[in-house]
Amino acid sequence: MDRDFEEILLGQDFGREEIKVLLAADGPRMKRLLDRAREVKFRYLDNYVHLRGLIEYGNVCEKNCLYCGLRSGNGRVARYCLSDEEVLDCARLAQELGYGSVALQSGERSDPEFIARIAHLVREIKKIDGGSLGVTLSLGEQSEETYRRWFEAGAHRYLLRIESSSEELYYKIHPRNAMHSFQRRVECLEILKRTGYQTGTGVMVGLPFQTLDHLADDLLFFKRMDVAMVGIGPYIPHPDTPLYRFRDQIPSAAERLDMTLKMIAVLRLMMPEINMVAATANQTVDPQGREKAIAAGANVIMPNLTPGEYRESYFIYPDKACVKDQPDQCRSCLDIRLAAIGHRILYNAWGDSLAFTKKAR
Ligand code: SAM
Ligand code: SF4
Repeated sequence: MDRDFEEILLGQDFGREEIKVLLAADGPRMKRLLDRAREVKFRYLDNYVHLRGLIEYGNVCEKNCLYCGLRSGNGRVARYCLSDEEVLDCARLAQELGYGSVALQSGERSDPEFIARIAHLVREIKKIDGGSLGVTLSLGEQSEETYRRWFEAGAHRYLLRIESSSEELYYKIHPRNAMHSFQRRVECLEILKRTGYQTGTGVMVGLPFQTLDHLADDLLFFKRMDVAMVGIGPYIPHPDTPLYRFRDQIPSAAERLDMTLKMIAVLRLMMPEINMVAATANQTVDPQGREKAIAAGANVIMPNLTPGEYRESYFIYPDKACVKDQPDQCRSCLDIRLAAIGHRILYNAWGDSLAFTKKAR
């Protein structure tokens, strides 16, 4: 292996140019990068994978992101919102399956009814089995008061992807208006952190107009923001969205997955103790994609618990993986798939970010 590359790999505080060298790695260099990231993960976090039972609460969204099938401008989706009982049934199932945590995700809504129902649901989930379930929320941009209300109800982790840390690219994939403000998204991450959440962010990889510089800057952004969790996944073009017309200008699905794996691996070297999600989108572009993301340095998986009849309506992007899986099948399938790559699931635990818990001590 060449000495320059090896020297970079042994570091941690990478600059932009070093990150670009690592992200450009292919062939044996890429393999070496991924192997090194796995070694580092095992050293800091062992071979555990944490689960969050994903509950896709609803697909009504006030926003109009140019890449997402749930955008308000898409008239071709049947909109739904789960009932309280349906959400609590999912949470009880997560507890029975030993997942340890649930993640409640939905389109962005800011109406008082939505805010009150989420607070109520979080409180009810925390009553299951004496508060044994951890609760992650991924419900978009909200006011500081709303974030605090949900935190006080018992939620302790929040995922809000920045989508791209480049303001210029952000406005190419979002409408340029007050409702889709880049500054506001960054501010929300800061509010989440000071409210006390384990705060997660992330980006899509392989977006139209995205360059290696953008991706390197994304990794530096995560480090600068000192987040506790990151989710990185390939962008998947959705036919009923404005960004679809640029689909011929993006890398192939295999290239988008490879770049996602390298982003995960480089970030694992830069931030060894954070939690990193192996996004479902990885599995959509490659049947082994989720395991590949785990092998490259990720340590969290979000098996879908949404009731079957709603899954196809949570149509963020086409051909979503596991849409037809049953939760109990999903659990045994995951055990086997992860054992095959030398990992094991830590059941009945919240699986908090070590980066966060160490700071809190
Ligand atoms: N509405 C909340 C938000 O935007 O933060 C949470 C739900 S949103 C559907 C969750 C994530 O889906 C987004 O952060 C985005 O990165 C991802 N997503 C949306 N459209 C996508 C696409 N076409 N390909 C890959 N990921 C996509
Ligand atoms: Fe709505 Fe989130 Fe999709 Fe944007 S990414 S349209 S906020 S669900």
